[in-house]
Amino acid sequence: MLRTPPDEALVAGRWRRGGGAPAQSLDPATGSPLATVHAVTAEEVAEAARAGAEAAAEPVWRDLLPHLRARFLHRVATLIDDDAEHLAALQTADTGKALTETRALVASAAGTFRYTAAALETAEDALTPSRGAYVTMSVHEPIGVVGAINPWNSPVASDAQKLAPALAAGNAVLLKPAEWTPLVSLALGRLISTALAEHGLPPALLSVLPGPGRIVGDAIVRDPRVGKVAFTGGTATGRALARAAADKLMPVSLELGGKSPTIVLPDADVEQALAGVMFGVFSSSGQSCIAGSRLFVARTLYDDFVGSLVERVRKLRVGPGTSPDTQVAPLVHPAHRDSVAAYVDLARQEGARVLCGGAVPEGPAYDGGAYYLPTVLDGLPGDARTCQEEIFGPVLVALPYDDEEDLVRQANNSVYGLACGIWTRDHRAAWRIARRIEAGTVWINTYKQFSISTPFGGMKESGLGREKGRDGIRAYQRQKSLYWGTSTAPLPWAG
Ligand code: NAD
Repeated sequence: MLRTPPDEALVAGRWRRGGGAPAQSLDPATGSPLATVHAVTAEEVAEAARAGAEAAAEPVWRDLLPHLRARFLHRVATLIDDDAEHLAALQTADTGKALTETRALVASAAGTFRYTAAALETAEDALTPSRGAYVTMSVHEPIGVVGAINPWNSPVASDAQKLAPALAAGNAVLLKPAEWTPLVSLALGRLISTALAEHGLPPALLSVLPGPGRIVGDAIVRDPRVGKVAFTGGTATGRALARAAADKLMPVSLELGGKSPTIVLPDADVEQALAGVMFGVFSSSGQSCIAGSRLFVARTLYDDFVGSLVERVRKLRVGPGTSPDTQVAPLVHPAHRDSVAAYVDLARQEGARVLCGGAVPEGPAYDGGAYYLPTVLDGLPGDARTCQEEIFGPVLVALPYDDEEDLVRQANNSVYGLACGIWTRDHRAAWRIARRIEAGTVWINTYKQFSISTPFGGMKESGLGREKGRDGIRAYQRQKSLYWGTSTAPLPWAG
């Protein structure tokens, strides 16, 4: 189902080759080239921002009634559904992810546009408690032009998560995909361009601007017309971006890294916990911000549980994302595979026992691909770099704990606070622990389940702000208070 991948940027409503340096997209399963996409230049970012500001101010968009804007969002959802197999195949080709996963991500992107359309139609402004002399209101208005900067791990879903609410809120958007994976964002841009044209809306409401973060991302953040940036990516980049945004006093939302604890209490359903822990860290080959990459098991259960886990991890099927049997697909890029391998070498130097994996798989099936075996480590102190830093690959560190106090202390011993999993039959213990863990999302007897209506975001260095949920649209608006005088009585200084 893979058609010729897109290779043009969308600048100010026009498709064209970017004026910057070329970059080659690779299929991580084979290392073979997929497409050459030219970066846009900083000047092209400025052009997109200028045209976006004009488009956002056009009455046909600015004054569009919510149910008509919702109709446009529904159309985008339908176009995504109609092109679902191609989008999934393209994302598998560009990121390496298993087709089962990319199909689910494409479906979730369409769902995000539908949910946002419904939320938009039901969003209300508030009439606030008023005194006799005036009526007061709180209303929400678009920001104008917003930037959306995304990483490479789940582009179609993370693009939809920003584009749908930002457009619903009435803005123009400058979308910047990651350098390794621009293709699916460009394909999504084509669909949104089509929907804009069908509805007679200004084409410059969306620009898709591929290229390096330090040129294209930085130009988006610093452009004076850009009034907000929604960023998903690494914590170091998020911090640098927030510093640049501070110069303009511009709001940013930051969805950043994680090193999430997954916790097995002594009374857990062991079969369920084994499956959940493996899925939580090894699906997406661990390239997931919410990967449950630190496993805490009650000491009384530790040897048995970790032993059974290792036995099963050894049987996980490693292969190309296109094979329906594959459970652990290649990593996004050979350079990223090397960074994961370097972390496992570091773990060895830190004194880890490598219980399984810890190597690149061998055999002709893996030639040229960016594969790495699912790996379980233990024997490390919680302060080891391997237990503290985000590896973003198929690597799990197992640690025993003694009692609830020890567990909570160890689980919270992280600069990150994105997610947590708890496996137990004891609902009281689950409640107590869930409330004490510093994480934006806690799953109990499940992991990596998502609902578009439930807000998502991190605590501590995992981020600022929340995406999704009914308030998702509000994150792309500015609030204004209106006072409307209703009294005929003279004002205080009336003559
Ligand atoms: P990254 O921070 O290197 O890059 C993310 C994006 O920022 C890319 O588009 C990049 O080109 C751009 N960028 C880089 N430097 C920039 C700059 N100076 N100014 C503006 N933009 C710049 O992250 P990555 O390696 O692409 O992705 C992996 C990271 O993303 C992991 O840390 C992962 O946890 C995180 N992530 C977080 C979430 C979440 O929701 N919390 C979701 C997915 C991924």
